Amino acid sequence: MEADAALVLTTKMYEEHGLVINKVVADDDSSMKAVVCHSYAAKEKRPDLFPGYKWPRTSKGNQKNKDGGLLPLHIPEPGWLADPTHRTKVVAKRFFEIQKKGKGYSTITKADCLHMKKYYGYFLKQNQNKTYEKMLAASNTPLEHLFDNHAFCGSWCKRKKELEMLANGEKLTQSYEVYY
Ligand SMILES: [Zn+2]
Repeated sequence: MEADAALVLTTKMYEEHGLVINKVVADDDSSMKAVVCHSYAAKEKRPDLFPGYKWPRTSKGNQKNKDGGLLPLHIPEPGWLADPTHRTKVVAKRFFEIQKKGKGYSTITKADCLHMKKYYGYFLKQNQNKTYEKMLAASNTPLEHLFDNHAFCGSWCKRKKELEMLANGEKLTQSYEVYY
């Protein structure tokens, strides 16, 4: 239903107002993404519009990808951006799954899961506009910070500052309390 509405809106905005949607922020697995795009079959039939276009294949089995696109070919496809909140939930879910398997499987605690969710969310929001290389380097931060290694942390990390102060023999002030 959401996908159908998005298709109608995208089409009407173009046909009635000449507006093109540049970017859409959505879940990675959004059904909207599968519908608000051009049909692979339709693109293959129009080499005048899409020279050299080939129907995308699955990574396993070299099968043709499912063709769900319903956006008319004359309307430009929108670009897609991942919703950082959804990505955070997807990543955190995996930690909670590990925790639910019990102590015999992992010593991870519910608090660890909640901390990882929070740190991963911060990591995404702080790095989402950086280059791939910079984001990749920063991706170590949430897990390392959880294990008290702050080598990847930025100036935001109070624990890093606290450890630096201790290393310099400085007395800690109340403002540098451990927050995890
Ligand atoms: Zn840190």
